[in-house]
Amino acid sequence: MKNEEKNIDEIISFAKEKGFVFQSSEIYGGLAGVYDFGPLGVELLNNIKKDWWKANVQKKMNYFGLDSAMFKDPRVWDASGHTSGFSDPMAECKDCNSRIRVDKELENIGIDADEKMSEKEINELFFANIGKIKCKKCGGSNFSEAKNFNLLVKSNLGDFTSKGDKPVYLPGEACQGIYLNYKNVVDSMHPKIPFGIAQIGKAFRNEISPRNFLFRTREFEQADTQFFVRPEENKEPYEKIKKERWQWYLDLGLSVKNLLWSQHKNLVFYASDAWDIEYNFPTYGFDEMEGIHDRTDYDLSQHSKFSGVDLSFNDNGEKFIPWVLETSMGMGRVFLAVLSEAYDKEKIDDEERRVLRLLSKLAPVKVAILPLVKKDGLKEEAYKIYEELSEKYNCVFSDTATVGKRYRKQDEIGTPFCVTYDYESKEDNSVTVRERDSMKQERVKIGNLGDYLNKLI
Ligand code: ATP
Repeated sequence: MKNEEKNIDEIISFAKEKGFVFQSSEIYGGLAGVYDFGPLGVELLNNIKKDWWKANVQKKMNYFGLDSAMFKDPRVWDASGHTSGFSDPMAECKDCNSRIRVDKELENIGIDADEKMSEKEINELFFANIGKIKCKKCGGSNFSEAKNFNLLVKSNLGDFTSKGDKPVYLPGEACQGIYLNYKNVVDSMHPKIPFGIAQIGKAFRNEISPRNFLFRTREFEQADTQFFVRPEENKEPYEKIKKERWQWYLDLGLSVKNLLWSQHKNLVFYASDAWDIEYNFPTYGFDEMEGIHDRTDYDLSQHSKFSGVDLSFNDNGEKFIPWVLETSMGMGRVFLAVLSEAYDKEKIDDEERRVLRLLSKLAPVKVAILPLVKKDGLKEEAYKIYEELSEKYNCVFSDTATVGKRYRKQDEIGTPFCVTYDYESKEDNSVTVRERDSMKQERVKIGNLGDYLNKLI
């Protein structure tokens, strides 16, 4: 199935039905813009993270991993510009009090709202087009003026951590932890420039209208890399990073026709270039999954200024503030892209087969072990295979319902291989291995099963 033929609501209910994603606090009516990953969801999520970590840390000589704390000195968010400038223009419907994000509404009708625009400029655009923007709840166009609404989420960690009257914030973006530890990484790992730091971390934003399932949430995870280069030696590595990030999505199984590049037309004042990789989400259409930004020396200079600590790099006596090339990806959006791409339905003998065509490396369950029947010692023998294989892979053991029904159940959750132990297995010491997509079955000696699966997974 093409993404254009898929329906996102169907995928959302599938995600709940099969234990991938649940609404947070559902028994209390649900908390808007917050989601939990269920038993299969957490496996898929972890597999995506592992793949990202492998590509961005383990397979790269000059990248270092990091896991920084979420709470930070409140001054970090002053230096980064989040306390003053991290806001979205919000307006309220005067008839039903629901809120809209004005820049996104303008975007939806083809008007580009610049990030640097003042409230006054945004309002001029907004009121010039007000008739074209409708309230999602009541359908009217009777809106208040747009006011900037800060997205940082406040916390009360305790007065002793606050400087002055500033609250402690939850991170508005994960990457600040990288800048804060840049000097520690330099002093402990002694990297040669250029080098990178990578981390996966949580971010929290008071999104005005969380929407589109995992696409715009109030709590989410970001996977970031910051590549530190000599000033103005940015162009070549930037192009290389762009190529690598594009390839990573192809290696996740996303098809090239569902991906596109989009360059920022309106750059923030310090940036030198910025591109997004967009994905063609079912129903929602193309939208951002990852941003790749050439940020000059802005971040380290700001933190140097605000902390009073010299963050220049000393390259054999030559000192300079490195420039930063950033990649920032939303884990929830990539999860949704992977799930959407893999979701498929096909007709087989007048019956519909629902199948999740995930790459083996991403599948939550790699192998299902199925005794043909529970009796005559088949279950016990099959269980021995389960015990052995589950040392290596996430496996399931299932002995209820007919084998055909069990195959279908595994197809739906993306399990690439089913191993069936039948009556003949006792005699020929072999099992049937069925592959999910082709549904082809092959007889494999139990003694060779580990090697056989190893090659395929
Ligand atoms: P948008 O324009 O969609 O609000 P952004 O440009 O503010 O996104 P960044 O601040 O560059 O996003 O964050 C980097 C990545 O983090 C984005 O590409 C996206 O994948 C993810 N992200 C940002 N905001 C959210 C959110 N509210 N929910 C889920 N993921 C998000």
